[in-house]
Amino acid sequence: MSGAGKVYLVGAGPGDPKLITVKGMECLQKAEVVVYDRLANPALLEYAPQTAERIYCGKLPDHHTMRQESINELLAEKALEGKVVVRLKGGDPCVFGRAGEEAQHLAERGIAFEIVPGVTAGIAASAYAGIPVTHRDHGSSFAVVTGHLREDKPELAVEKWSALANGIDTVAFYMGVANLPLIRTQLIKHGRDPHTPVAVISWGTLPQQAVVTGTLADIEERLAQNSHITNPAIILVGDVVKMREKINWFEATLGIEQVQQ
Ligand code: SAH
Repeated sequence: MSGAGKVYLVGAGPGDPKLITVKGMECLQKAEVVVYDRLANPALLEYAPQTAERIYCGKLPDHHTMRQESINELLAEKALEGKVVVRLKGGDPCVFGRAGEEAQHLAERGIAFEIVPGVTAGIAASAYAGIPVTHRDHGSSFAVVTGHLREDKPELAVEKWSALANGIDTVAFYMGVANLPLIRTQLIKHGRDPHTPVAVISWGTLPQQAVVTGTLADIEERLAQNSHITNPAIILVGDVVKMREKINWFEATLGIEQVQQ
């Protein structure tokens, strides 16, 4: 073992490579090892020294390429070799990014680490779709929720649905596209107005960003008519979605055809 290594758990931002933080970029520039995700923009890897070892450990929606335990071990092992390790993750590392588990693994072994927050997709993809997640007139509360819903705790799920349907103005569902039928039905069943606006934003902040809007009542049908909406995508529910009509700035600058009626 050489000198003390360190692991930086770094948020890469949502897609647009310029949305990484200055601190995250500084970490990349001094990295000796970069362990990166599927959703971290690969363009960012160019900022690591040429000599840095680059290790892909991304997961695909249907199968894992590397188990989380193996990633934890890898980070620890490289740091114990004395290396500066950057664990580069899409968005923010602590928002459905498992940074908590990785940090815990390192803490338990006495390995130094830092968490460098990133711009999370639920906020950034929405902003790039012309939707502020809060607004004085249209939304004073905001929740991030996984769309990978666990069916093993039904009573908890009922409480959660009820809270999301009645207590939160804007809800961003991550990893939720496959469960869109369930999500919209549960929200309506628990009392949310079926006319509530919804946006599905795929590849937010990138040139291939695509958006479909509708309401809880018809979003499923509208999505079915737009096959170019693919993962990764955010489902954003709430009155703030209406703002898109007025401030859809990003697609306008790109000249992207708006998939909106
Ligand atoms: N840590 C990440 C989230 C990882 S979970 C973050 O903070 O953003 C992966 C989910 O994030 C995807 O299923 C999708 O719901 C969302 N996501 C990530 N990048 C996205 C993008 N560019 N546009 C839309 N959704 C995105």
